[in-house]
Amino acid sequence: MSATPQGYRGRFAPSPTGPLHFGSLVSALASWLDARAHGGAWLVRVEDIDGPRTVPGAAEDILATLAAFGFHADEPPEWQSRRTGLYRGALDRLIASGHVYPCGCTRKEIADSQLGAHQRNTTLIYPGTCRDGLHGKPARAWRLRVPDAATADEPAGAHANPALIRFDDRWQGPQHQNLATEVGDFVLLRADGQWAYQLAVVVDDAQQRITHVVRGADLLDSTARQVWLQQCLGVPTPAYLHVPVVTNADGEKLSKQTGAQALDASRPLEALMAAARHLGLELHDTAPATLAAFQLDAIDAWKRRLAQLPAA
Ligand SMILES: [Zn+2]
Repeated sequence: MSATPQGYRGRFAPSPTGPLHFGSLVSALASWLDARAHGGAWLVRVEDIDGPRTVPGAAEDILATLAAFGFHADEPPEWQSRRTGLYRGALDRLIASGHVYPCGCTRKEIADSQLGAHQRNTTLIYPGTCRDGLHGKPARAWRLRVPDAATADEPAGAHANPALIRFDDRWQGPQHQNLATEVGDFVLLRADGQWAYQLAVVVDDAQQRITHVVRGADLLDSTARQVWLQQCLGVPTPAYLHVPVVTNADGEKLSKQTGAQALDASRPLEALMAAARHLGLELHDTAPATLAAFQLDAIDAWKRRLAQLPAA
């Protein structure tokens, strides 16, 4: 086994809800290219924390497909389902520090509390009902407190509003989200006993010492929550890069739910060339004979592509 390079550590984190499709290939390629362009380590983490959505055998199928496409992780893959002790430990630390509190609200109660109020996608903005206690209801979930929004008479400077999370995305440019008004206190341990994605991903990125997160832009909206959670846990915030998502003919994000087809592992170069085009890479060799030839060309093209981005 080769020594792990110091410094840059990136990862690809597929959810085993079905076979690898073109949309996830784009994310895998981007994260792999960025790690290689930095001379860093590239890890694979199977995000099988959502038990009900995990399809048996899908993770093994994804790992085999990655290998067929020339993606070889520098360390053995991690499995979120085997790491729940780490999530429990992080929640216990957040309980001790007062960052989280038990919530007894049902989904219907949260919906009823904001009839007529705006909703964020399909996620209801939690009104903070249980911040000061459960009001006699049994605890269902654990929520993380977000900072209170600044009041209107406070100065509107860059640092005036603690609820406003800012970060620079290496592809998408400067980002900001007001956690108080756009998200609300969010769930880390769900009523059904499942660990929330936000907690698992933050704990894993920190524990695996990930320095650079490269993933699809469908997760851009989660990033501010993850940055806040990192601050609450006292762990570093990695650099973020969100690549454009692949959509189908109806403009929906490509996924198993929107009918994405499994990749053909017997013809990896064809799909890899298409993924490189999706990322706007200008390859010198338009008909590479081998995976190795494609990879060398694509790493150089990735470096040139990053230099063209407005965020560079
Ligand atoms: Zn509540």
